[in-house]
Parts: sequence; structure tokens; C-alpha cells
Amino acid sequence: MRCPVCKREFDEAASPALPFCGERCRTIDLGRWLGETYSMPVIPDPEADELPEAGDFESENSENGPQ
Ligand SMILES: [Zn+2]
Repeated sequence: MRCPVCKREFDEAASPALPFCGERCRTIDLGRWLGETYSMPVIPDPEADELPEAGDFESENSENGPQ
């Protein structure tokens, strides 16, 4: 069958988010629906695209050095 969001054909038996090809397209469709209903209640933050700092867990990964 064909996904109504991305228009790609997919195996409906393998999809966890029918009638869409996957969770991503289901979320996109839900977002569109909510956007039309509530006319964008959430204002997108222009700085939200920046990646979060990911330096904390690396210190935990360090092996015990020569002591
Ligand atoms: Zn899709």
C-alpha cells in the first residue's frame, strides 16, 4: 500500500504505524492535523535546531588511567 504522507509504497505487514509507512510519517501527519486545528499553538524556537551539549557521559567512559 502507499503512504499518504511520503507517497512511497511500503509493506503494510511491516509497518508499526498504519496507514503510514512508519512512526515518522504518522507524527508528521498528526502534526499537520494539529497545526490546522489549533493554528500552530507552539512557536518554533530558532535556536532549537542546535545540538545539545554531549560531553558529560564521555568522562564516565574513561578507563582508569595509570595511577
Ligand atoms: Zn511515509
